Amino acid sequence: MEIKKGIAVSPGVAIARAMVIDSKDYRIPRRSILSSERTKEIGRVREAFDNAVAELTELEKDVAAGESQIKDIFAVHIRYLHDASFGKRITDFIENELVTAEYAVSTILREIASHFAGIDDEYISERAADIYDIERRLLTQLLGDVRRGVEHLTEEVVIVAHDLTPTQTAGFNKTFVRGFATEAGGRTSHTAIVARSLGIPAVVALEDVTASITSDSLVIIDGNRGVVIIDPDDDKMAEYEKFSRELTEFEVSLGSLRDKPAVTRDGEEIQLLGNIEFPDEAIMTKDKGGVGIGLYRTEFLYLYGGSEPTEQDHYEAYTEVAHHFEGQPVVIRTMDLGGDKLPYAGRQAPETNPVLGLRSIRYCLQHLSMFKTQLRAILRASVLGDIRVMFPLISNLQELRQAKMILRDVMEDLDEYAVPYNPNIKVGIMVETPSAALTASLLAADCDFFSIGTNDLIQYTLAVDRANEHVVTLYSAADPAIFVLMRSVIHDANKARIDLSVCGEVASEPEYIMLLLGMGVRTLSLAPPMIPEIKQIVRSVTIKECNHLARKVATMDSQRQIKNYLRDAATRILPEAF
Ligand code: PEP
Ligand code: MG
Repeated sequence: MEIKKGIAVSPGVAIARAMVIDSKDYRIPRRSILSSERTKEIGRVREAFDNAVAELTELEKDVAAGESQIKDIFAVHIRYLHDASFGKRITDFIENELVTAEYAVSTILREIASHFAGIDDEYISERAADIYDIERRLLTQLLGDVRRGVEHLTEEVVIVAHDLTPTQTAGFNKTFVRGFATEAGGRTSHTAIVARSLGIPAVVALEDVTASITSDSLVIIDGNRGVVIIDPDDDKMAEYEKFSRELTEFEVSLGSLRDKPAVTRDGEEIQLLGNIEFPDEAIMTKDKGGVGIGLYRTEFLYLYGGSEPTEQDHYEAYTEVAHHFEGQPVVIRTMDLGGDKLPYAGRQAPETNPVLGLRSIRYCLQHLSMFKTQLRAILRASVLGDIRVMFPLISNLQELRQAKMILRDVMEDLDEYAVPYNPNIKVGIMVETPSAALTASLLAADCDFFSIGTNDLIQYTLAVDRANEHVVTLYSAADPAIFVLMRSVIHDANKARIDLSVCGEVASEPEYIMLLLGMGVRTLSLAPPMIPEIKQIVRSVTIKECNHLARKVATMDSQRQIKNYLRDAATRILPEAF
């Protein structure tokens, strides 16, 4: 048994066999063979080696003169395949362990690659990539078209990978993918956010997890405590089977809250809305008791397929969401690409600092035809309910005014063709840059609502990449700087009498709810699966005690002090959540 500690990003417990995937989603389960099958499997390895050499020789021949570097790579790969000790390690493994040819190839080559990768010599460590390449070539020879990938699952697994993109995560078949563990990422990376929306337990920032787990190891993913257990012993299994049962019971008990109001014990009503990435999550939001959508991350429309979504694609997506929330707010955020949400290949040239670069509203303001297409669709959908539009990453008043001017242009176009829309559509902004927070009083005069995006606000204020596992301990909503900034934004919104909500991940973290209420927040937008738990907290507290807690936090001077204080308070209210 091995226990690895990472960062919990999506709650719940998953117990299943591991599927370790690389960029090509290969997965090689351990399969035992009979001793009488040894000769056949060794023969398969030899044949795969011969075919791979023949393939490489052909490729080498086809390389144009002048591309000697590519020729050299093929030549190096051929040399490895001719190296007798290389093949012998694989065939010995089959002899001794009685496993299939593909399992032996994958295990031995990965061992060699991770040995190379660990050597403190740039030339040698880079050879690891060659070994992975050879592994892929041999596996293609051995498995051909029956390569088993995440798309063809027939049994429950937990996915283990160095990193996953938000799109990959969103594409998981939830029936079979019970959880995931990655080496990269942070709590507010978009992959983590998608996991939370889908309700899949996940742990990230696990050092070397792909080297410690082989496909088919039994793995427990504890998305509450941020722990991954590899090959658990009987006691651990029993402990987790019990914990998993308790979590399910807790979840079932929260189900009865669905139609109860989110009202504090002293009668203050709190609006709980859903954050969604895909239109079909609207139903889940409703099922969990959400009373609208506070953040629709429309950029996910751009993350699939090879082309830009059309106005009709946008319109159909917005119509589907609006349909579930007649008379209730649906906040459509204009596309927020960039950072860790990269569109289909080829749109953007790589930037040195993408998070500080041409992302989000900045991108839209430089690509007006694309921006206008989306705004037309939002405006057309605005007659279907209480549809609102929100601009992300506003960092100065000029940007807001420019975005509003374009919205007005689009309205005029629609007028020309007598297309109906709501001319009084509410226009809001994400407050997620320090400059927006510091000038909130100016921005409030020019918009109808604010939504505080703590995920980015923390990243930019503390200068900590939200998706980088190496600085994950520096990233915290409990930093006094965040408290001071948020308090001033809430004050400015109240003074200007505009609506305010919080839609960053803090709104789905049980320990921050009392603080947010105590700071004056009355609308929270969060991952739909978390709505019942947060409602339970709301219903268990009084505004008076939340105000007291916020005043106390105002006197504290460190992340650790604030975090411990908030956790203690929340644990007293809802021990099951911790
Ligand atoms: C945020 O930054 O807090 C936010 C909600 O937006 P996103 O996570 O999509 O960047
Ligand atoms: Mg953001």
